[in-house]
Amino acid sequence: MNKERKLIIAGNWKMNKTVAESCDLVADLKRELAHLTSVDMVICPPFTALADVSKIVQGTNLWLGAQNVSEHPYGAFTGEIATGQLRELLVHYVILGHSERRQFQRESDELVSKKAKTAHQASLIPIVCVGETLAERESGKTEEVVGTQIKNSLTGLTNEEMQETIVAYEPVWAIGTGRTATSQQAQEVHAFIRSRLAEQFGETVAKLVRIQYGGSVKPANASELMSQVDVDGALVGGASLDANSFVEIIKNTV
Ligand code: PEP
Repeated sequence: MNKERKLIIAGNWKMNKTVAESCDLVADLKRELAHLTSVDMVICPPFTALADVSKIVQGTNLWLGAQNVSEHPYGAFTGEIATGQLRELLVHYVILGHSERRQFQRESDELVSKKAKTAHQASLIPIVCVGETLAERESGKTEEVVGTQIKNSLTGLTNEEMQETIVAYEPVWAIGTGRTATSQQAQEVHAFIRSRLAEQFGETVAKLVRIQYGGSVKPANASELMSQVDVDGALVGGASLDANSFVEIIKNTV
C-alpha cells in the first residue's frame, strides 16, 4: 500500500497471556514478520512479559510497547511503573489514555497529557487514544468529544514531540464488540483529528502525525480501513492475541 506516512500497526494484548504464552506468541510473530520493513510493527504485552519478550525481539523489526506508564519519572508511587524502567527493557512505545483506562481507572485528558510529556522526556513514543462512546456518536457529539480529547490530552507537547506522537482513534463502541467503524466513518474522524492537530501544532506537524484506527480490526477489514488517506495504521486488540490473525492483518496492508 503506497501511503503518505508509513503505516504503524500495534497489538494491544491487554491483561492477557502468561510470560510463557507471550514468548510463544512473539516467537511466532518474529518468524513471520521479522524482516518486514514497509510497516512499523509494535507489540504491547502485559508488563509481566516485557523483559522476556524484549530479549526475543532484539535485532528484529518488531518494536516493543507498554500499555501504560506513570506520569512521574520515579519515586514513592506504589504499584506504578516509570518511564526509565520501561526504557531499561528497551520499550519504545507506550499506549496512553486507552478508553478502558479512561473508564475503569478514571484517567482524564489532563493525566494523559502529563503522561505523554513524561514519556517524551524519556524518549518513549506515546500512542494517545481518543474516541467517542455510542451515546455520544448517536447524539451527534463525536467531533465535540474527540476534539476536546485531542486538545487536552496533547496540550504541553512541543511540535517536535507532537510529530513523533501516534494518535489512535478508537471509537469506544467498536472496541471488542465486533462492530467496526466503516472506512468512511473512520476517515471522517481521522481527517477531523488532523485538522485539529493543524490548528494546535501547525500544518507541517499535522501532516507528519500518524493516526491509527482501533476497534475490532480483523484480517477481513484491515486493508479497506488502512487504504483511507488519513488512516495510518491500526491499534489491534483481540485479533493481536492470535499470531495468524495479527500476521494476516499486517500482510493484508503491505
Ligand atoms: C483496543 O483495545 O485497543 C482494541 C482496538 O480492541 P479490539 O481490536 O479487540 O476491538
